Amino acid sequence: MTASHCPLCAGIGGVLVFQGEKFRVIRADEPGFPAFYRVVWTAHVAEFSDLGEADRNLCMAAVTVVEQALRTQLQPTKINLAALGNVVPHLHWHVIGRFDWDTHFPAPVWAEAKRPADAERLKALCVKLETAEREMVGCLGQWGKPAVA
Ligand SMILES: [Zn+2]
Repeated sequence: MTASHCPLCAGIGGVLVFQGEKFRVIRADEPGFPAFYRVVWTAHVAEFSDLGEADRNLCMAAVTVVEQALRTQLQPTKINLAALGNVVPHLHWHVIGRFDWDTHFPAPVWAEAKRPADAERLKALCVKLETAEREMVGCLGQWGKPAVA
């Protein structure tokens, strides 16, 4: 896939939370998983090792900030980190807050569902996202701008 046919080059890929010079943070719109974020590298590179050392460190620092904000504000059962890119080979890290009550736990979000969605818990979780995103943006501020000033 070239940059001209890449959905992560052509568009934001979700709800923009933070725009840095070299990366952005988006909230993925994945039904059943509100605490699903992605750190998307701006340049069209496929593999993590395409980045130099400083950029790799920056990328993982951003992933760490997102993870820490989710842990602090949402108290997930587990954080899932993943960089797959089989479908869209443009470097992006999934940072997913997982809960022992979510539809797929303990399987990956891409596996088969194990139980129906818990609408009340999902609603309660969604209410906390704004606080988590404020924390992310506050910590990421040194590398760019919040999506909404
Ligand atoms: Zn791309």
